[in-house]
Amino acid sequence: MALRFYNTLTQELEVFQPLQDNVVRMYTCGPTVYNFVHIGNFRTFTFQDILRRWLRYRGYTLDHVMNVTDVDDKIIANAARQGKSIEQYTAAYTKAFFEDASALRLQQPENITPATKHIPEMVNAIERLSDKGFTYTNDGSTYFRITSFPDYGKLSHNDFGGIRSGARVDLDEYDKADARDFVLWKARKNGEPYWEAPFGEGRPGWHIECSAMAMSYLGETLDIHAGGVDLIFPHHENEIAQSEAITGKPFARFWLHSEHLQIESQKMSKSLGNFYTLRDLLEMGYQPEAIRYLLASVPYRRKLNFTFEGLKAAAKTIERLRDFELRVTSTKLPAGKNEAITERSADAIRAFEAGLDDDLNTAEGLAAIFDYVRAMNTALDEGTFQEENRWDAARVLEVFDSIFDVLKPTDPAKLPVVQASGNADVLSDAEIENYIEERTQAKKSRNFPRADEIRGLLVEKGIVLEDTKEGVRWKRK
Ligand code: AMP
Ligand code: ZN
Repeated sequence: MALRFYNTLTQELEVFQPLQDNVVRMYTCGPTVYNFVHIGNFRTFTFQDILRRWLRYRGYTLDHVMNVTDVDDKIIANAARQGKSIEQYTAAYTKAFFEDASALRLQQPENITPATKHIPEMVNAIERLSDKGFTYTNDGSTYFRITSFPDYGKLSHNDFGGIRSGARVDLDEYDKADARDFVLWKARKNGEPYWEAPFGEGRPGWHIECSAMAMSYLGETLDIHAGGVDLIFPHHENEIAQSEAITGKPFARFWLHSEHLQIESQKMSKSLGNFYTLRDLLEMGYQPEAIRYLLASVPYRRKLNFTFEGLKAAAKTIERLRDFELRVTSTKLPAGKNEAITERSADAIRAFEAGLDDDLNTAEGLAAIFDYVRAMNTALDEGTFQEENRWDAARVLEVFDSIFDVLKPTDPAKLPVVQASGNADVLSDAEIENYIEERTQAKKSRNFPRADEIRGLLVEKGIVLEDTKEGVRWKRK
């Protein structure tokens, strides 16, 4: 079965192939850095990470661009309130975003770039729109006239035919019911940051940055454009209008949108105040792998309700998989190879691939892995899993983890929250290995009290040691 994605534009599952060569040109809308990004946002960024990883697994090279929105209404208001420049204000949250993304093991897009570094491209795009007659100005601001673009509404599947020309909106975010001519360039206001442009001093509206940046990095037609469902209207609808009005070509071939992370049946959002940041959850002692797993385990087009039970269950699942990995790598096994198990392992990989090819159905992929692990645990109990079958199991886990990336424990010393609070109570992997080495030496020189002391010290810090024939194994509780 070929790789298929649900395309919001056509409302159909379509076979995916890039337009040119083997390269997928992809643009995803990044964070607005006016605060810490919450785990609802990270559901969308985790979906994009799974998308990236699956495209690469399928042999494609990625050219992926993500913007960082570092100038908008909220940023300007917050920075002014704190007496900071927008650069000072956004720098800290941009840094925090990168730290959090890295803790969640999100692969870096080939290009991540702040909007304010691309003002000339935006000015140029607005000039081209003006030259072609898609804009008008009012009180120093420039607007896109939506009645001049007959396809307006094709992504959100709304009929805006009855819209009165000339009704305007200056806000960056608004509902379908408030569809209006949207602002491309906002006239300079006292106390606000501004840039020079041929059509007057001011600053860009939110939507133009993505059209200008996407096309300047990736060309006029992208293979994939992605974001959360809340961006379909107006943001992505406006991106299409701006870009296609300039080029006369389709802006993106595939539009992928992820559903929301909810909490008590409501969208998790800053404005509702019902959110957790990654740091909140890390401070409560949850592992970033468990959060990553939880966000990735529900297929991206289904709503996901956040609960602490769900998070604990995610942690348990990871532990079961790690225990299985430990078991197949370190148990003594009968020599030889059981062909049936080799076959069963190849089937597991095929089923996993079929799930992910089906519009990134992570739940189906996971079901294939769980079935496999259950069958292999039984085989290990019954002694039918043999020495050379280790490689088969290792390959299955490798395929799984190349996408989910949860098997390797996080070194707590590297977590953003630990760095921020200077928490010295957590041992790093290297410190643990050092203690274990010292304990081994102590035992060799028959200094048993010191060896026991080290074991006690590690247990106190939540590290469990197991002495095996192959050496000392350890894990975090
Ligand atoms: P923002 O920083 O508000 O521009 O949002 C960054 C990304 O997070 C966008 O793609 C949004 O669609 C997405 N997003 C916002 N809230 C949620 C949520 N509760 N669940 C999933 N994605 C979200
Ligand atoms: Zn965007």
